[in-house]
Formats: sequence, structure tokens, C-alpha cells
Amino acid sequence: LVERMRPFTSTIFAEMSALALRTGAINLGQGFPDTDGPPSLLADAAANITGGLNQYPPGPGIPALRSAVAEHQSRFHGLSVDPDDVLVTTGATEAIAAAVLALCDPGDEVVTFQPYYDSYAATVALAGAVLRAVPLRPPSFGFDPDELRAAFSERTRVVLVNTPHNPTGTVLTAAQLAEIGALATEFGAVVVADEVYEHMVFAGHAHVPMATLPGMAERTLTISSAGKTFSVTGWKVGWVHGPSELVAAVRAAKQFLTYVSGAPFQPAIAAALALPDSFYSDLASGLQRKRDLLSEGLRAAGLTVYPSAGTYFVVTDVAPLGVTDGADLCWRLPELVGVAAVPVSVFCADPELGRTLVRFAFCKRDEVLIEAVSRLAGLP
Ligand code: PMP
Ligand code: GLN
Repeated sequence: LVERMRPFTSTIFAEMSALALRTGAINLGQGFPDTDGPPSLLADAAANITGGLNQYPPGPGIPALRSAVAEHQSRFHGLSVDPDDVLVTTGATEAIAAAVLALCDPGDEVVTFQPYYDSYAATVALAGAVLRAVPLRPPSFGFDPDELRAAFSERTRVVLVNTPHNPTGTVLTAAQLAEIGALATEFGAVVVADEVYEHMVFAGHAHVPMATLPGMAERTLTISSAGKTFSVTGWKVGWVHGPSELVAAVRAAKQFLTYVSGAPFQPAIAAALALPDSFYSDLASGLQRKRDLLSEGLRAAGLTVYPSAGTYFVVTDVAPLGVTDGADLCWRLPELVGVAAVPVSVFCADPELGRTLVRFAFCKRDEVLIEAVSRLAGLP
């Protein structure tokens, strides 16, 4: 294995999910729902498979899905998107990887925030680029404007921004996004906006897409994923849209990563994107209730719980339990009380930043969360 990939031989999600399986623990580590998406979506996909939609779809994605994504961006965000500028990808993960690979030469720099979704650091390493990760610190998980500016240089090619943010649950405000956008503009960088949790935002907060800020659509690639919005994480269908020349660059990389994928899923997702507003609002309100249920239980168990404004994750500090290393606790937690979680330090370029922080996922059935809470109450 080449040296730059050596830190990335396994993922914390695979490790913690395997541990949960081995010990019979409730898996609040890896973020995936334990119920399936909308019945119409599942039935459509099944019918597409038995109906023979099983060969390569068109390279950029089927026209119906590209149009549905454009329509969705207009309906929810007021963005005007040409379906020709939408590229369907193998999950958001491939969109992120193809964007970084398409835009960065070896030695170029990618600015992002830490903690980050783990694929960011691995993808930047694959490209031979250099990660500049700006800390998000509790309790608010905002960034320091001076630290952000200091992360930029003449080598900055990409700013990778995730909002709503995994793992912290932060939803960046328009003012914060404007600060990031202004620096990207000043340094001539492209913003890659990972907005996969766009529909998982709780009362009192609003998702602001980077591309809606003045002057930003022309330098922003916006990414989202059906896996999140429709609770079908295993389908791995995502998309990216932006200015034609940037999308063309991403397509050039993407076509030699997977070429295409998800033939029977694409038409089903196109139809699901047109589900009524109630589907989307129920998703958010249901998750908000689950957030409250788990957060309350974690607090009762003695952890410090940071407020989650979006996503399906909540970050805690386990220091009040007398624990000095969150990763160490996560390895012991399944045996200790029968619950699995993931340490935030593994999402940090500087692990000290997340040393005592632990992330829990609440995208689970109520009875599962209630059982998890009762088990966590047994924490010493
Ligand atoms: N970005 C973030 C912030 C995520 O949390 C995830 C899901 N773990 C992804 C991207 C990847 O999405 P997909 O499964 O569609 O590749
Ligand atoms: N996005 C999910 C999480 O952050 C799962 C990611 C994965 O398994 N690669 O938990």
C-alpha cells in the first residue's frame, strides 16, 4: 500500500459495526436508518429490477433523475439548475472523490473543517493533495475566522464544506457560509458543498445551500444523496450539480471510477424526489423527536450532550464519566452496556481536538433508542 494511504486501511464504521454485531450491541455508531425508505420507492425499484432495467444507464445518469434533481433544487432552495449540469454518482462519496480528483494536482490544497466525514481525508490523500482542516470546537462547533483564513494559500484549489455537518450536527449560518465563500473567491478556489443532510434540519435552524449565496453558484459544486433523504444508504445513488465546466471535470474523473451505477434505482429515486412536502417535513420532525429522546438519555447517563441542529448525529463529551479517551471508551462500550458509538477523534486531523468526544446516531426506531437509553443508564 502506498504510504499516503497507510493511515486509511480500515474505517471506523466497519470496525464499530463489526464489534456491534459480534457483541449484540445496539449499533448507534455507523449512521444508517433501521427502517426502509418510502414504500413507493421500494416498490418502484423492485419493479424496475424484475422489469429488466438492469443494464448500464447513461454515463451522466438517466434524464428523468437529472431533471428531478434540478426540479428539487428549484422547489426547496430556489436554485435554477440545468438538468444537463447534473451528474448522477455512486453515492455522495463518489461525487466528493471525483470532484477532488478532478480539481487537485498533487501538492494542491483542500481546505475543510475538522472533525470531518472520514472519506474527506482519505480522498484528499488519494489525490496526493494536502488537507488543511480548520477546527470546529465545542460547544458551538463554529470556526475561528482567523484560523479559517490561515488555512488558505495560493495552493488552495478546493474548499470542502459540509452542512448540515457530520459529525457535530452543526448547521452553518448564511453568515458563516459567506465568510467561507469570500475566502474561496479571494483565493480562486472551488467550493465542494456536501449537503447530504439537507432535509434533516431541526426547529430553529435552516439549511442554507452554499450555491444560494450571491456569486457562489458559479464556483460551487453541490452534492447530495438519495441514501440519506430516502433512507436507502445501501443503494449508493448521489448527485452533483454546478457550473457546466466544473461538472464536466467531475464527470471526466467519475467515468473512470465507476462509469455508472444504480440503473434500477435511478428512475425510482426520480419519482421519489417529487414526493409531497409532508414526506420531507415528516422526515425532519421524526428525527427531531429521536434526537430529543437520545439526547435526554445521554444526559441522564452523565454525558455532556452538545445540541444537534441537523443530521442524524449527536456529539457528546464523555469526560464527565472520568474517561480521558473517547476511542478507548467506544472499544469498551459494547461489552460494558451493549451500545456501540464512534469516537470523534478519528474524524480529526488533530485527534486531540476530539479526544473525549463520542458520536451517537439517532436514526433508529423509537423502541431501539429507548432500549439504548436504558442500557446507557447502566454506565458506571
Ligand atoms: N457526506 C457525509 C457528510 C456523510 O455523512 C455521508 C454518509 N456517511 C456521505 C457524504 C456519503 O454519502 P453516500 O452514502 O451517498 O456516499
Ligand atoms: N455516513 C455514515 C456515518 O457517518 C456512514 C458512513 C460509512 O459507513 N461510510 O456514520
